[in-house]
Amino acid sequence: MINRVILCTFAAAINPEISLKLMDMSHTTDEPVDSEKRALNFIETIIEEDKLNMKNGGRVHTRFPPEPNGYLHIGHAKSICLNFGMAEKYGGKCNLRFDDTNPEKEETEYVESIMEDVKWLGFQWDKEPYYASDYFDQLYEWAVKLIKKGVAYVDDQPQEMISQQRGTPTRPGTESPFRNRSVDENIDLFARMKNGEFPNGSRVLRARIDMTSPNMHMRDPVMYRILQADHHRTGDKWKIYPMYDFAHGESDFLEGITHSLCTLEFEVHRPLYDWFIDQLIDDKSYRPRQIEFARLNLSYTVMSKRKLLELVKNNIVKGWDDPRMPTIAGLRRRGYTPASIRAFADRIGVAKRDNVIDVGLLEFSVREDLNKISPRVMAVIDPVKVILTNYPDDKLEDIELVNNPEDPESGSRKVPFGRELFIEQDDFMVDPPNKYFRLGPGREVRLKGAYVIRCESFELDEKGAVKTIYCTYDPETKSGSGPKQPKIKGTLHWVEASSAVTAEVRLYDRLFMDEDPAGHKEKDALEFMNPDSLKLLNNCKVEPMLATVKSGDKFQFQRIGYFCVDPDSATNKPVFNRTVSLKDNWAKVSQKEQG
Ligand code: ATP
Ligand code: MG
Repeated sequence: MINRVILCTFAAAINPEISLKLMDMSHTTDEPVDSEKRALNFIETIIEEDKLNMKNGGRVHTRFPPEPNGYLHIGHAKSICLNFGMAEKYGGKCNLRFDDTNPEKEETEYVESIMEDVKWLGFQWDKEPYYASDYFDQLYEWAVKLIKKGVAYVDDQPQEMISQQRGTPTRPGTESPFRNRSVDENIDLFARMKNGEFPNGSRVLRARIDMTSPNMHMRDPVMYRILQADHHRTGDKWKIYPMYDFAHGESDFLEGITHSLCTLEFEVHRPLYDWFIDQLIDDKSYRPRQIEFARLNLSYTVMSKRKLLELVKNNIVKGWDDPRMPTIAGLRRRGYTPASIRAFADRIGVAKRDNVIDVGLLEFSVREDLNKISPRVMAVIDPVKVILTNYPDDKLEDIELVNNPEDPESGSRKVPFGRELFIEQDDFMVDPPNKYFRLGPGREVRLKGAYVIRCESFELDEKGAVKTIYCTYDPETKSGSGPKQPKIKGTLHWVEASSAVTAEVRLYDRLFMDEDPAGHKEKDALEFMNPDSLKLLNNCKVEPMLATVKSGDKFQFQRIGYFCVDPDSATNKPVFNRTVSLKDNWAKVSQKEQG
């Protein structure tokens, strides 16, 4: 059992340098975020040593090897950033290889989504994508070679029997009664397996290694199984398929991979991969080197394709790209940027020990990027009407607003202002406490970029909710240009009513309510679903410019959060996904407004 420790608290997420020092013992620097400046991580140290020693001619060639049995998730993004990142840093190459040895679970849809996601993250693989299935002929030949060497045999026993005979880590296994078959008989049976003469599951080809090895993976592991199933690329050509363990190391070898980076669970498989290559290849001048690193675990998230597939199949989410999913497609739809995901991968670094990263760190990374690039707009997501009783009935004026204070190039725009406006329900209280700096009877606030208003009265509907707020405005207080600039504590965002566009807003919360939903022995992760992970608001009022947004456009709704236009949007009917909320920057807005 992995010792799971939450190493980054949310507070640390706000200051990622702190969390990194705690988290990754291989970092020895205060500035891990900038990959140029930070100390080498353990993988870089190995690569630099190998380069220095001119191992494999000093080449660096990595690969990202997904199995096309689902969409990629944020954990895969870590592996992608690492594999492509190392190739980039050391002037090498990185392959994309589909490990497609399991025809029953693999689909072309997944192959396509994986290519899209890798490209979207900003990486380009060397040449065309590779497929383990391209090597099926070579692997078959190699299996025959191992039979001829007397180190592979056909076992007629059912799978359960083979499992029983494997023993335990402390008890040696038992040799199969078929272990000492003659080479000729093995060759004949293996050929007939290939020709489809035997039913599924009736025989396997096993490596003949050592049933007493302390490493269970060395106890005569299965190399081939009979499977009469159509493959997404080779159709019905094959009736037998290599096991992942037999295909993986050989695929690395065939592609000239120098550094095979993979997650820790493969550490115990490494001796087997090395054994296969040593049996098959006499010339020892080139060998791929496997290096293991800790997989990414995120709090409040499940990170296995099998679990994510369950969420999709059971309609708990709306597809693989549901914005609540930790898939790359989901994060993209939610409004995450490639830069924010790469920055996150950089921050978490690579470690040798399993750990759990606070999901707050991922949110921190996207907030940081969106703060730089998102235009600020006015949007009222839970509107209530405000009427300025002393503002002319037929007048609309333009208010000039800065698009993005973080980006001087982004300029400004004009937003209409008039007698009837919307503000957030939340920004008005009938009986507010003293420290409430928003609107209430007799209180004054500034409307962002416009005037100071004072609440004179309000009207309730039949259910007792506030329906209309009546205010007066002071024409002398126009932001920036009016002769009076009184010090007012609260500044509200607003949208003019007659020109407002009605929008749908989707607010997302965590999918799971438990910090480690997949970590319970007795309970399934699905028992921890958050029933309120999606909240739909379909009467939001946004400024007129947002009538013509495109899918994927990103904005900061002032004082609310970062939002991204969903593909479900239509002209005059925009739909926005909340990417992440803002930190409360209430005080900051007020200060800027006054200053
Ligand atoms: P899952 O367990 O989520 O189904 P997997 O390991 O079966 O994932 P693969 O398609 O085999 O998925 O993974 C491709 C590569 O991505 C492998 O090298 C694997 O080690 C790496 N990878 C998978 N999950 C993570 C993770 N959470 N963190 C880092 N790397 C990961
Ligand atoms: Mg896998």
